[in-house]
Amino acid sequence: MPLPSNTLSIAVLPGDGIGTEVTEATLAVLEPLAKRHGIGLAFETLRAGAFCYRDTGTAMSEETFARAAKADAILLGAMGWPEIRAADGTEIAPQLDLRFRLNLYAGVRPFRALPGVPVALADPRARDIDLVIVRESTEGLFFSRDRGTVTHDMAEETLRITRTVTEKLARFSFGLARQRAARRGRQGTVTLVDKANVFRAFAFMRGIFADIAAEYPDVAHGAHYVDAMALDLVRRPWAFDVLPTENMFGDILSDLGAGLVGGMGFAPSADIGDTHAVFQPAHGTAPDIAGKGLANPTATILSAAMMLDWLAGKGAGQGFADAAAELDAAVDAAFAGGLRTPDIGGADGTAAAARAIAARIGSAGG
Ligand code: ATP
Repeated sequence: MPLPSNTLSIAVLPGDGIGTEVTEATLAVLEPLAKRHGIGLAFETLRAGAFCYRDTGTAMSEETFARAAKADAILLGAMGWPEIRAADGTEIAPQLDLRFRLNLYAGVRPFRALPGVPVALADPRARDIDLVIVRESTEGLFFSRDRGTVTHDMAEETLRITRTVTEKLARFSFGLARQRAARRGRQGTVTLVDKANVFRAFAFMRGIFADIAAEYPDVAHGAHYVDAMALDLVRRPWAFDVLPTENMFGDILSDLGAGLVGGMGFAPSADIGDTHAVFQPAHGTAPDIAGKGLANPTATILSAAMMLDWLAGKGAGQGFADAAAELDAAVDAAFAGGLRTPDIGGADGTAAAARAIAARIGSAGG
């Protein structure tokens, strides 16, 4: 069957370990979804990751990078493998290179309690958790990646915060809060997470956020120290909305957020820049369960929904927005209807989860 005229190109990088399994499951769900909404998705699968490095000496070839960069969006599984290391001992992580090379400064990590999925906190309000960490993903402490200096007596890494990227991060965060507020029918709130009481770099960041906040009078705005936020994400996570933060803080708090709503299998993400975006689960390659068909594909499927929504925002058309909303609803309906993946004590493996979610397409609203 020919692809519809609104067809967009999606570079698919399954990667390593469970990355390949959750990607396959996601494509299996996207197929009926695209058909139902009359949207065209032309997938091109590209090889990159740790096993690619082992076999070819390159984690992501320049040709693969160029093809991925040319696509309308990039869908990624997960990359890295403990036993396959670069010469300096670090893990193979070409997905980080994508973030830096494509300037994907906004690492969007939504955490939402799905119906039926057990949450970590006993307080009934934990069912209302619906927050987004926006992890700055091109600078902060990760600016130092591959640049740190190590001598016999000392090791040093440098944290960098720039005005340009912080302004972009702030506008992205306030824009996201505004969009979420419109969808949820309540005011949005941006809470910057920093350590402005100790480091000048974070006082600088806080000042820029305060300036940009003035452009969004409809969005409430505050700031929180990262240590206090770690506490509050356990004490009252339902109280937060959009939480922009520095790269390393976001890396750590994201895992905490995933722990609140069922684990890494439920944590989608999008790395978004001005022109490109990569959509991938927040988890890694999980070597302990790889190859067994046990991986929960939900994080990747929800990342694909974010991809469709982002494409709609870029002008792809209402069909993409509707498909995104229906995919979210299908995931909710499948879990509300009894889907239980092994990571939450159930017996529904990767393929069964994909089937259960696909079965809700067409009946879950949207
Ligand atoms: P990285 O270092 O890149 O974060 P990792 O494999 O060490 O990679 P994760 O993959 O993030 O760490 O996850 C840690 C553990 O959580 C895994 O070993 C696995 O047991 C579990 N896990 C992660 N993702 C999933 C998933 N999609 N489904 C089920 N379990 C998962």
